[in-house]
Formats: sequence, C-alpha cells, structure tokens
Amino acid sequence: MENGPHIIIIGAGLIGLSTADALMTRGCSVTVIDARSGPAQGTSYANSGMIHPSQAQPWGLGAETIAAQAAFKAVHELAQDSKILLRDRITALGLYKNSPVPGCYKLYPDMMQARKAQKHYNETGIASKAVADSQATLGHPALYFESDIWANAREYALALEADLQSRGAVFIYSAPDLRIRDGRGGVTAQLKGHVFQCDHIVVAAGPQSPDVLAQFEIDVPMAALRGFAVNFQKPDMSLPFAPLMDAKTHSAMTVFDNHLRVSGTVGKDSARPLLQRWYELAPDIMGALKPATEIWSGLRPMSKAGRPYIGATPIKGLWVNTGHGHMGWTLSAGSGDLMARMIIEGVSDDRFGLPF
Ligand SMILES: Cc1cc2nc3c(=O)[nH]c(=O)nc-3n(C[C@H](O)[C@H](O)[C@H](O)COP(=O)(O)OP(=O)(O)OC[C@H]3O[C@@H](n4cnc5c(N)ncnc54)[C@H](O)[C@@H]3O)c2cc1C
Repeated sequence: MENGPHIIIIGAGLIGLSTADALMTRGCSVTVIDARSGPAQGTSYANSGMIHPSQAQPWGLGAETIAAQAAFKAVHELAQDSKILLRDRITALGLYKNSPVPGCYKLYPDMMQARKAQKHYNETGIASKAVADSQATLGHPALYFESDIWANAREYALALEADLQSRGAVFIYSAPDLRIRDGRGGVTAQLKGHVFQCDHIVVAAGPQSPDVLAQFEIDVPMAALRGFAVNFQKPDMSLPFAPLMDAKTHSAMTVFDNHLRVSGTVGKDSARPLLQRWYELAPDIMGALKPATEIWSGLRPMSKAGRPYIGATPIKGLWVNTGHGHMGWTLSAGSGDLMARMIIEGVSDDRFGLPF
C-alpha cells in the first residue's frame, strides 16, 4: 500500500523497532526518533536472550492476586504469538541458518523444589521436563522449557533496523529534545524548531516512557529495575547449549555465538553479587573465564500492572507501547504487531490498556 499513514515512533529499542516493522508491513511510512546515537542502546542493548513465554508470571505482584493472574494470562498469550512471529522474523533476517535454538533451563536447589515449581507451571498450562542431573544444567536439578527459544536480541535489533532502513524507514538519532504537540490538526512531533507532521505517534521509550507522556499528565505506572550484563570470551571447555536461569534470582548464563554472558539483577549497585551467584552455580566455568570484555547495566521498564501498556492514550493519535519488564525481548514482535493492528485496523485489546 502506498501513501499509507505516516507514523512517528519514539524509541529505537526492541519495542519501537518491532512496532515500525509491523506498521511498515501494513503499508505505513515510519520515522523512528531516538535520544541515543543508534538502535538498541537502551535496555535492549544486552539482555539474557531468552524468548520465554514460560516466564510470563509478573514479578513482584504476588502470584495469587486476581490482577497477577490476569496479567500472567495476557502476557503468556501474547508471548506465545510473539514467539512465533519472532522466530520467523529472526530466520527471515538470516540470523540463524535454520531457526533460533530451542529450550531454556531453570535451576533449582533440589529436586523437591523443582517438582513443586513444575506442579505450579502445569497448573498454569506451561509444560516443562524435570531434569535430575545433566551436563546441560551443570549437574543442578532443573526444569527444561522445551518450547522456549533464545537468540541474541541486539544482533536482531541491528539487523531489523538495517532491514527497516532498506524498506524506506527514516531514523533520526541523537534527538533527546523531542516534544509532542497536540494541535487542532492532530499530533505533531517537534525537534529543534522542525515540525514533523504525522498521523500518529507511538511512545516506545522503554523506562523513559513515563517522562515522555508526563507533558500530557498521562500516568503510566512503571518502575525501572536495574539489571546487569557481563560479557566474557568463551572459555575453551564444554558449555551449556541453552540458557540457564537461576530460580532464586531470575539471573541467567547464556552462551552466545561469540561470547558468554551472565546477566540479571542480584543486588542493585554493581555486577559483583551477580557474578558471585554464578561462581556458586557454575564454579568451573566462572573460574576459567578471563576478565570481562564488557560490563553493562540498564533499566527494565517494569509496568506496575505486571503486563505491558499497549494502546491508545486520551490524546487522539498518541499511542503507547511500553512497560514490558523482564519480557520485552519475548514480547517484542507480538507487541509491535498488536500496536499496528490497533492503529491500522481499529483492533482494541482491553488486556493491555492504560489505567485511565
Ligand atoms: C539484564 C536484563 C536481562 C533481560 N533478559 C531478558 C530475556 O532474556 N528475555 C526477555 O524477553 N526480556 C529480557 N529483558 C527485558 C528486555 O530487554 C526489555 O524489556 C526490552 O529491552 C525493553 O525494550 P524497549 O524497546 O521497551 O526499551 P529500550 O530498549 O530502552 O528502548 C527505548 C528507547 O527509547 C529511547 N528514548 C527514551 N526516551 C526518549 C526520548 N525522550 N526521546 C527519544 N528517544 C527516547 C531510548 O534511548 C531507547 O533507545 C532483560 C532485561 C535486562 C535489563
């Protein structure tokens, strides 16, 4: 479709890029504007790589509350659709020869706790295999989530951005001073005196989304949860073929093509407690590592509702796609697709609305 609506997306992280992708597929022209100097330099820079619908349970809401159960159901459903879209997109971008690698493991202190967790997962419709002692889990009791997959999110974001550019998307970087205006003719974006006319604006600014929306007094209840990622050269030894998640801390060890990453939130102020935890879980591997090649930290955009906000705001033409917390890589393609269907096809989905 030519001459489709022009849509401005604020944020070139996984969510903004996926939204741009889904909108362009539906014939829109898109301009993506980001405060930083390139794509995926915010939270999407270095995550654990897991595309894991199995982990849809919200963090910090109290699993048994009605709100937590509704959030879990919504996120799990979206995550399953998203995983399929994402797998196809990853393959189409030529990032993996066949498809992303299947499976993620979650490690438990003993088999009894693993079985107890498995029972709970079963009750919520999530299948797993209990593993008593395997080389793949470094000897730890674990649950294996066979239908999860994993891949390098940053590689994907860079490839997706290049693909979007080749299809005609416009990217404007190093633009921290963007203002949104709500005029008689609809919303516009203003940057250094230049006015960008558009039909719609999507705010996908990750942990900064509440700041962007504050000018309209739109409340997006979110918290920013710091996480760390520490990269190492791969040591020359047998390494886990799938990500290992620690049930106690939610942190993970992932062996990517060209590096090994330990990532997650264990303590708030430095990566040290995270590394200490992985020394306890994987002493042989951690002991064989050379000094880290990169230490990074970023803020997870945690919605206080336990599920992302994807939908309209009270300002006509202004939309939001944010708050994906620990599930943003998993939900990226599905959230972009849902946002595009809302804008272009008039689809509504109360499961992800803003709390007005
Ligand atoms: C340690 C760690 C491990 C994780 N592991 C996983 C995992 O295994 N699986 C999973 O599914 N998820 C995981 N996540 C979560 C996932 O990475 C995030 O949910 C996701 O990256 C969020 O993407 P985003 O596009 O919303 O935010 P971001 O990537 O932060 O993108 C937002 C963009 O908006 C830009 N921006 C902000 N304000 C403005 C402004 N005013 N003007 C213009 N631009 C602006 C920023 O520069 C940024 O580029 C992990 C997160 C962390 C921290």
